[in-house]
Amino acid sequence: MTSFYDLFTQQNWDRIKESIYDKSGNDVLTALSKSQRDLEDFKALVSPAAAPYLEQMAVQSQQLTQKRFGKTLQMYIPLYVSNECQNICTYCGFSLDNKIRRTTLTDRQLLKEVELIKEMGFEHVLIVAGEANKTVGVDYFKHAIELIRPHFSQISLEVQPLDQHEYKTLIAEGLDTVLVYQETYHQEDYKKHHPKGKKSNFQYRIETPDRLGRAGIRKMGLGVLIGLEDWRTDSFFTAMHLDYLERTYWQSKYSLSFPRLRPFSGGLDPKVEMNDRELVQLICAYRLFNEEVELSLSTREQEKFRDNVIKLGITTLSAGSKTNPGGYAAGKESLEQFEISDERSPAEITAMIRKQGYEVVWKDWEIGFTTSY
Ligand code: SF4
Repeated sequence: MTSFYDLFTQQNWDRIKESIYDKSGNDVLTALSKSQRDLEDFKALVSPAAAPYLEQMAVQSQQLTQKRFGKTLQMYIPLYVSNECQNICTYCGFSLDNKIRRTTLTDRQLLKEVELIKEMGFEHVLIVAGEANKTVGVDYFKHAIELIRPHFSQISLEVQPLDQHEYKTLIAEGLDTVLVYQETYHQEDYKKHHPKGKKSNFQYRIETPDRLGRAGIRKMGLGVLIGLEDWRTDSFFTAMHLDYLERTYWQSKYSLSFPRLRPFSGGLDPKVEMNDRELVQLICAYRLFNEEVELSLSTREQEKFRDNVIKLGITTLSAGSKTNPGGYAAGKESLEQFEISDERSPAEITAMIRKQGYEVVWKDWEIGFTTSY
């Protein structure tokens, strides 16, 4: 069966990187003048040559986003169910070699988190876990979805990659969206950052969206961890992956995230720094490349940056996030996966959104649309 990996193996990272850095101001102007942009245009828009054109990019990005999504922002919140993990990832607080107290939520703890999340007003929850297949595998997720399904209109998952039949099982339970980040498309560096555990299998991870598409997922989210490798080249591969998936699994919808490496206890410094201006450039480049894709911004980013950037292309925002299991009930008892930058409450964040003339959307999907119970 063919997959994105077949297309990916025909690419050469160094040549693509060089072609991005070779783009000129004229290439950027050509990309800006088009109504439909291709991957060559995307290279120009993420290149250093595009830096002087950021203002034009931002204006176009804002217009396109409002045309497709209106002046709305969808809200979601992560629900960390476990910090158990069998992988070593150099950049993560849950890594197997990090000596922290491990915990997985019981039914009672899970429902307590749900109660607190509901009190904050959320209808869309993102279940997050480390990768511990034996203890926190498909059966755990199936049960968790069953338990929390009556309380939310949208359930998303950000956990270990699964097999196609396993995704089908969870979709039948009411799973709506799966986020699976490639971390980096640089295969050699990927190996360095994932030396142990199932995650070290680059091909299995990169083929996950194909399995999701075949399983019939409604929406999937892609992205890389910015800071591991050259962000312009990694973002190009993300755009190429998105382009392939949209053409192959046209029934699914897509979202993109652009998390920047954040500090955690004993953690890794970014190999490549991306400043705020460059992140704005990337957000606008994604929007100019693809009018339909949702662009999601988490509480990893500083509040001032979030306030300024939401108008430029973002469609989905988290608020009030805790990145430790049981965090809503217990505060910081177990270690966080990474530090949060924007610590404002959901009420404060929604007030900021409304002040900017945007409508806050808590619920844009109903589970009953995809399930038959
Ligand atoms: S990134 Fe995911 S797989 Fe890697 S250590 Fe963290 S939780 Fe585990």
